[in-house]
Amino acid sequence: MCIRSLEGKKERGRRRVKGWPRMARATKFSAIIPRALFTRSISTASSFAVKLLAADFPPPPTPQVSFDLADTERLFASVPTSTLLRSFAILSLMAAGPVVDLGTAALRASMASGGRLLRPAALAAARATVHRQFCAGEGAEEASLTVQRMWSEVGLRSILDYGIEDAEDSASCQGNLAGFLRAVDLAATLPPTSASVCVKITALAPISLLERVSDLLRWEQKDPSFSLPWRAHSFPILCHSSPLFLTPREPEPLSEDEEQELQSALRRLSMLCDRCVKANIPLLIDAEYSSVQPAIDYFTYWATLESNKQREQPIVFGTIQTYLRDAKERMMNAVEAAEEQGVSLGVKLVRGAYLTRETRLAESMAAPSPIHGSLHETHVCFDTCASFMMEKVSKGSGAVVLATHNVHSGQEAARKAEELGIGKDDEKLQFAQLMGMADGLSLGLKNAGFRVSKYRPFGPVEQVIPYLLRRAEENKGVLSTSSKDRQLLRKELSRRVTAAFVGRALN
Ligand SMILES: Cc1cc2nc3c(=O)[nH]c(=O)nc-3n(C[C@H](O)[C@H](O)[C@H](O)COP(=O)(O)OP(=O)(O)OC[C@H]3O[C@@H](n4cnc5c(N)ncnc54)[C@H](O)[C@@H]3O)c2cc1C
Repeated sequence: MCIRSLEGKKERGRRRVKGWPRMARATKFSAIIPRALFTRSISTASSFAVKLLAADFPPPPTPQVSFDLADTERLFASVPTSTLLRSFAILSLMAAGPVVDLGTAALRASMASGGRLLRPAALAAARATVHRQFCAGEGAEEASLTVQRMWSEVGLRSILDYGIEDAEDSASCQGNLAGFLRAVDLAATLPPTSASVCVKITALAPISLLERVSDLLRWEQKDPSFSLPWRAHSFPILCHSSPLFLTPREPEPLSEDEEQELQSALRRLSMLCDRCVKANIPLLIDAEYSSVQPAIDYFTYWATLESNKQREQPIVFGTIQTYLRDAKERMMNAVEAAEEQGVSLGVKLVRGAYLTRETRLAESMAAPSPIHGSLHETHVCFDTCASFMMEKVSKGSGAVVLATHNVHSGQEAARKAEELGIGKDDEKLQFAQLMGMADGLSLGLKNAGFRVSKYRPFGPVEQVIPYLLRRAEENKGVLSTSSKDRQLLRKELSRRVTAAFVGRALN
């Protein structure tokens, strides 16, 4: 569910903006914000060249009550009934696996067909449903309006997610970098602390290179005498409990071309981090699947060492997937190494979204799954890692983003934060949910005073749909477990209907 009280404005924004903004659009963007608003100069946002006045972006309403999902009237006070209804309808439909399968297959077919009628019709349907539910907008202006509205009216922060697919070659990586840089520039024009940016390393470095680097890192874990001349200093990437079956034999060293390609990819990430450091915008690096994850962690720790030094609040956050059996050990090793080196480690904790892919891959290699044997073990691992990181936060080391829709985990973390005396406005503890999902939990945590962000993908429908399709398939389990969301929505909708009838009867 997306919490928008000014949907009309979004509609107008959508009609005005088609596709990704070019430089010309930046002028339009600054034009829609009155000049009087601007006082804070944002040097890195040269394309938008704006100065923001904090007074015109009032701080979100000051909450301060305990975490409570029971009172849905208070929980959804800022959400119009039309939005509740749409969210309830879409989440209910998507909770049925076969409907998601059918919908994604139909969308894929129509996107591939290029047919004159079918494709525009499919895009229009996707725009009105999934894009509207799960995306902040088609262009930077629209996304920016959504972020500002969520911030000033609801008090929720945003993590801008420039929705693009994996890169196969350097040229597409370069194009993707430009997109990510624009997302940082956009975040820099928004009210301070209201927006961060996330990135996928598979969009900045070719997949084949990430697979090669991951193989080599796995072999190094097997045989510590194995030499990797290109390897820069980083925190531990793999650990004793890490599965190494994906690299059954010694890989060839990187060729000269591959080494150059690796340096180019690191330079891209470095440019992105520099831009984030200058604009003070947190950068969250997503975790992906295990055939490339060691390389992603290598990139992440390399960037952490470059960007988080001498900073109390990290700029770069890596991601730990707690459905992996080795997650806790790997995370603890990295935290310990960062503490020893006096670097602030940022960790985003998730359960993990590539369950089917990981299980199938392990099966195909007749290896045990790298994923915990039961969902219960994943839950325990998530809550233990969250608790470990919160203890670190309470002692002043590290920062954590608890990215979950799980109400029990949210409740448990809220309780633990209070027990540890972590201030609810402490920026080192944050919660995050995907846009369109678990809004009850987001609002409950926000009402209790915690910092809460929504992951907001944005981009033209044609560009974001393949990305959303992949996410829908990967997250089928998540969609089917949206029962708590739907239960809260149903309760509030019934309450509003009853209140309307009673009101009419009394009149
Ligand atoms: C802000 C945000 C950022 C995210 N970033 C990433 C990211 O970078 N990388 C990434 O991989 N994912 C990411 N995700 C998705 C995340 O990993 C989860 O897929 C999703 O949030 C569901 O987990 P949950 O904590 O919300 O818990 P729940 O709603 O409790 O979901 C539990 C789900 O976990 C799955 N599951 C996990 N372990 C097991 C197991 N052992 N057996 C059976 N099922 C199991 C099931 O599908 C189940 O439906 C992100 C999510 C959010 C909210």
